[in-house]
Order: sequence, then structure tokens, then C-alpha cells
Amino acid sequence: MHSSYTTADLQAALRARMGDAAILTEAAEMLPFCRDWHGDVTSNAVAVIRPRSTAEVCEAVHVCRELGLSIVPQGGNTGLVLGAIPDRPESQVILSLERMKAVRSVDPDDFSMVVEAGCILAEAKEIAASKGMFFPLALGAQGSCRIGGNVSTNAGGINVLRYGMTRELVLGLEVVLPDGTVFDALSTLRKDNRGIDLKQLFIGAEGTLGIVTAVAVKLTPCPDSVATALLGLNSLEDVMQLYRRARRDCCDLMSAFEFMPPIAFTLAREAMPDLAMPIGGDCPVYVLMEISGSGLVDVDELMQRFLENVLEDGLVIDGVVAASAAQARNLWLFREGMNEGQARRGMHLRTDISVQLSRLPDFVREAEAAVAAAAPDCICVSYGHVGDGNVHLNVMPPSGLSAAERSVRIHTAKKVINAVLGRYHGSISAEHGIGRLKRTDFEERLSDVQRHLLTAIKKAIDPAMVMNPRCQLNLGELS
Ligand SMILES: Cc1cc2nc3c(=O)[nH]c(=O)nc-3n(C[C@H](O)[C@H](O)[C@H](O)COP(=O)(O)OP(=O)(O)OC[C@H]3O[C@@H](n4cnc5c(N)ncnc54)[C@H](O)[C@@H]3O)c2cc1C
Repeated sequence: MHSSYTTADLQAALRARMGDAAILTEAAEMLPFCRDWHGDVTSNAVAVIRPRSTAEVCEAVHVCRELGLSIVPQGGNTGLVLGAIPDRPESQVILSLERMKAVRSVDPDDFSMVVEAGCILAEAKEIAASKGMFFPLALGAQGSCRIGGNVSTNAGGINVLRYGMTRELVLGLEVVLPDGTVFDALSTLRKDNRGIDLKQLFIGAEGTLGIVTAVAVKLTPCPDSVATALLGLNSLEDVMQLYRRARRDCCDLMSAFEFMPPIAFTLAREAMPDLAMPIGGDCPVYVLMEISGSGLVDVDELMQRFLENVLEDGLVIDGVVAASAAQARNLWLFREGMNEGQARRGMHLRTDISVQLSRLPDFVREAEAAVAAAAPDCICVSYGHVGDGNVHLNVMPPSGLSAAERSVRIHTAKKVINAVLGRYHGSISAEHGIGRLKRTDFEERLSDVQRHLLTAIKKAIDPAMVMNPRCQLNLGELS
């Protein structure tokens, strides 16, 4: 058991087996791996292990088991639910996939690509693009998050309404299991109905069942024309009406439909002061909409005709259409920059909620009213992937409060939002996962049958509880 070793003993044993280059133990070197993206939580670890191959991951699992250490897998460490940083630093290592980033193959005929888990999402997208292909997963963290992390969180993002969540983009997986053996299902077959699809178990498992080492993904033709518009509307009800119209009029060519409040402009410019305002900024709510196509499809004409109709009907009251790729990028920077703006205002409540599409406006109104009543000095910032019924209803306490006072506000706001969410039969995690941050809320809402099944799967695959303990579920200590 690890308790008979000092930390120095454990570190020396890891070095002896894995080699110096694979092991980090200095506090300064480990800090970026041990701190969450927002900087709210800083942890520690016995070491950070950085294997370069699947065989080295297997070796790392064997040595950790021998030493009684549990393993917290880590990709880009952009997860927002504390799943990738240790909660018991004295008995845990971080296993970072950052040195496993090779692209094993890109096949334009098969529309598929096989990448190692540590490949950064943006780089995978660029490599696909260089072959005239498109990997549709797109999220604000794509410059840092890694494919293995995307698979392990079943990431969503801005293109879900057209291409689906990560699960729908995965063709095959290679996973190192908690006993150090390899589950090799790295197939690029489109159809394969041979019984239970085991790879699905590891998608969204947040590292609790094994370490994803490589992923085969679906590609699509590169959308060579993209039309992007930022539109101002009067209400969230009008947003939903616009969405229904766009679904019908733009068919399946709509690739993004995001809503955001006017404070998004202020927050984004706090993070990026040079961002030029593209629009007045005084409408009650904004929509960032994108339609894209390839080949013979004329998306510019489609966007123009669509907007003419909705402007004429008074559904849209202000708007700008990007005239170039650079202008489109500028519009997206407001959507992405508002996250960083919120982070700069200090610790705040971040939610990741989904409700039935048609009930989204009622939910947001009711939940914001509940927060205003319970924590009147806080600001609600509701935005998100409206086409998926997914809203980030975040709550920012006023500046100048102590950390303890902020925590009280956050706790209060979360409680009242979750109470409203319960009445709407919604989800507390539409896309970010459970990690350790949402574990209690998740466990409280599980039925007996769900808990039984999840526990049975975990115990069958990881009976010694080596993989990411207390992430998603708290099933006790190492056996
Ligand atoms: C600015 C910003 C915007 C974001 N936008 C979105 C969004 O639109 N949609 C969305 O879904 N998420 C979003 N996220 C959250 C985050 O980017 C995603 O969850 C992403 O998929 C995490 O990938 P990662 O490589 O950073 O994983 P990490 O944070 O390193 O890990 C996440 C979880 O997966 C596990 N894990 C990581 N790699 C592996 C592996 N190879 N094998 C097994 N387990 C592993 C970890 O243990 C942890 O539990 C955003 C985050 C930020 C900071």
C-alpha cells in the first residue's frame, strides 16, 4: 500500500520504471496540471506522468497499481467540473496525454481520421482541413482541449445541432483498462452491429473506466462557404420562434444558433479590450447564427433571403451579417470572450443546464427570478446553445466580496436554480460532465436502478478503483 512509502519513495519508483523524461515532480512544473481552468481550485499530485505511447500508458498503470496509487487522466485540463485534477494528492498521480498527439491516419475516401488522445482539438481540425475535410467538433476551448478529453467528457459545443455530440462523431477507440490491458476497438467502420457497442462505455466516462489513448473519428466535407449573422431580438420567446423558422427555412444547413444577453459585449471586451463592437448592443437578447455548406450550395443567398423575411416580420430588430471570414471571427470572439470576461470577475456559479427546447424561455425567466429573489446583489448571465435546449445560467456575485461570501451566494443561487430545474425535469449537466464538482448533485438525483447499474459497471471494469476515484460517483476507497 502507498501508506508505507514516502512521496519521495513513490516518485523515485515512478522515475525508475518510466524514465526521468516521463515524470514531473517539481511543484512549479506540476502547477499547470494541478490547477483548474478558472483558477478556482489548486491541488497537487505525487507526480505527473507523461507517457509517449500506448505501451507506456500500460506500464504506467501497472506501476501505479503496484505502488497503490490511483490515476487521474488529463487531456488539456479545460474541463469545468474538476474531473482532471486530484482530490487526494498524496495518493494520486495525474496521467497527462500531452505527449501522445500523433495523427495516425487521415482517410479522405473513408471520411475518417485516427488521432492519439493528446492531439489538441484545433490541431486535429487543421489537419483534417489540410486534406479538404472537416472535423465538426467546435468549442471555445479548442485551442487547448485534447481529443481524449473531448471523448471522455462527450463534449458538445457550438455545432451539436447539426453534427451531434462527440459520441456521434466517434467511430472507434483504443483504451488502456485499469488492469493495464488494451481494449482495441479502433475501427473506422461506419456500421458495426455486432452486439453491445462496448466503446460507448468509455465515452463520457470522465476517465473512471480507463485511459483513452487513441480515437477514430468521422469527418465530413469541408464547408467551403459559411454565412454568419449576429441578430438582436426582443425576447427569448422570439429567439425560439426564430430558431423554429431557421430550422424549417435553412434545413439542415444551420450549424450554430447561440443566444447571449447584451452583457456579453461588456464581458468579452473586459477580456479583449480591442474587440470592435459589431452592433449597437442594446437589444434584450442576441443570437449568433451560422449556416454552412459545401459544393453547389449558396449559403449567402440563403442567409439573405431568410433575414429579409424575419426582419420584415419584425422578429429580428437589429442585425449584422459578416462580410468576411475575419468579420465572422470577430462575431464569434464575443461569444467566446464572454467566458473569459466572467472568469476575470472572480469566482462565480457556472451551470450547464438543459431543458426541453420549447420550455427554455420559461425556465430561464423562472430561474433568473428565483436567483433575483434569493441573491438580489448577483448578476445572472444566461447564454448558450439554444438549439440544443442548453443554457449556461451563470451567476456572478458582486465584486468586493470575500471568497466565503462569494461561496454563500454561489451555493444559494445553485440551490434555487436546481429547484426550478427539478420542476422542468431538466439535466444538471448538458455537456460538461459531472467530475467532482457536480458529483453530489448527480448522486442525489440518481434512481436506485441507475445507481445500481453505474456501480456494477465500475466494479466490473475497475474493481480496485484505480481510475479517477470519486469522479462522477463516490464508491469508497481503494480495495
Ligand atoms: C472556454 C471554455 C469553453 C468551453 N466550451 C465547452 C463547450 O462548448 N462544450 C463542452 O462540452 N465543453 C466545453 N468546455 C469544457 C471542456 O473544454 C470540455 O469538457 C473538453 O472536452 C475537455 O477536454 P480536455 O482535454 O481539456 O479534458 P480535461 O479537462 O483534461 O479532462 C476532462 C475529464 O476527462 C478525463 N480525461 C481527459 N483525458 C482523458 C483520456 N485520454 N482518457 C480518459 N479520461 C480522460 C479527465 O480525467 C477528466 O475527468 C469549455 C471549457 C472552456 C475552458
